[in-house]
Amino acid sequence: MSRRTIATVILLATLSVVGVVLTQVLWLDRAFNVQKQEAELHLRQQQQLDKQFNDRVTIALTAVAEKILSINKDPSDLYDAVKQARPNYFAVAINDTVHPYLLEALLRKEFMRRNIVDDFEYGIYDCFTDSVVYGNYVSLLDSTVADTARHSQLLKLDKDGHYFGVYFPRRNSSLWEPKPRSRATWIYPAIVTLIVFGFFAYSLLVILRQKRLSEIKNDFIGNMTHELKTPISTIALSSEVLCEPGIEREPERLRMYAGIIRSENERLRTQVERVLQLATLDRENLALKRERVDLHAIIGEVCASFAVQVKERSGTLGTDLQAQRHTVTGDTVHLTNMLFNLVDNAVKYSPGLVEVTIATRNEGGQLCISVRDRGLGIRREDQRHVFERFYRVPTGNVHNVKGFGLGLHYVQQIVHAHGGTIGLASEPGAGSTFTIRLPINHDAA
Ligand code: ADP
Repeated sequence: MSRRTIATVILLATLSVVGVVLTQVLWLDRAFNVQKQEAELHLRQQQQLDKQFNDRVTIALTAVAEKILSINKDPSDLYDAVKQARPNYFAVAINDTVHPYLLEALLRKEFMRRNIVDDFEYGIYDCFTDSVVYGNYVSLLDSTVADTARHSQLLKLDKDGHYFGVYFPRRNSSLWEPKPRSRATWIYPAIVTLIVFGFFAYSLLVILRQKRLSEIKNDFIGNMTHELKTPISTIALSSEVLCEPGIEREPERLRMYAGIIRSENERLRTQVERVLQLATLDRENLALKRERVDLHAIIGEVCASFAVQVKERSGTLGTDLQAQRHTVTGDTVHLTNMLFNLVDNAVKYSPGLVEVTIATRNEGGQLCISVRDRGLGIRREDQRHVFERFYRVPTGNVHNVKGFGLGLHYVQQIVHAHGGTIGLASEPGAGSTFTIRLPINHDAA
């Protein structure tokens, strides 16, 4: 995927996410407004219903008071006798005695006439003795309910004379307060937005990871083609020389070109071997042989194969083999490749004098093998990546050291497959030490 395609995908994805969020915000705002209007309407309706109820109760209670006075033949004026002390409590000053049963009968009758079917409590007060003279709970719908224990709810008005109070327990005194808003309105859109964001971030991550992988693979293919093409063309040129007529009369030249063909062929073989190593790792199950392997013997072989190369560069390849127990269980071929790759890197990445040491020791029931060089070293930020497949320390466009970025990945996989660990200590300019720890074969003599 090209940079431009990725930028377009990211731009489009960002625009869609911003669009989704904006739409959500707009809808939320609209939903809140509708909810607010509904709440206001509900409140107004409720207030209207309450007002109607209060008016009906006031009229009913005035009628009750008038009846009582007329029964008692009391000529008193009833102006402003009914007072609403709370949304659900009314007090009626009659300044006259009243029989409880008469009061209850009148209240029932007047309430029924005006279609007031709420349960109510009533109480008759004597303000001279400062006490409730009588009280009762009346359920107009269910005549069996009579709960006199609720009398504590009845209020006493701070007023002289007789009066009675009517309390409607089922009417909420806080009816006039607006209802709290439901939270669900914004929770679900918020969750959806979060999911969209999460999906966006994840997709971006996958795209960038794929892009990096494809770049790395392209690099690898370019690198490999270059690495294979050079020896092939050198072999072609040398073989042309060998085909020249009369070459048999120049044995020196003949030997030189034959030597070139052999060494280039060897180079080709190593490169193909590297790619084959990768193919081995890519197979689902790495089929390892489980044989007794003497690591000191392998170190000897690997040193021998590098001896000429190191000597040509006037370097040293030394060993410091201190391990008493140096046998492990594993695959000889892979363990040899593993060591070969480490020593090959140590030589490759020592541009000046080659000074490589392979050391072994026993530590905590394990065999430690370290390969130390005094070469280029690896920066701390690259050390985390060198074991990744295809990773090569960036050197700008100059690639004076050949490679595919597969060697250390292969080494790490082989070490892990043998139940071991690999560590790296390195300092740029001072050199690197790769340390492998493998479990010892305890059956070994
Ligand atoms: P390559 O084929 O590039 O050598 P490797 O997987 O073996 O691939 O190594 C990955 C990278 O780690 C190399 O490109 C190199 O930059 C760095 N590296 C590996 N070994 C050494 C070393 N001994 N000294 C310095 N750098 C090293």
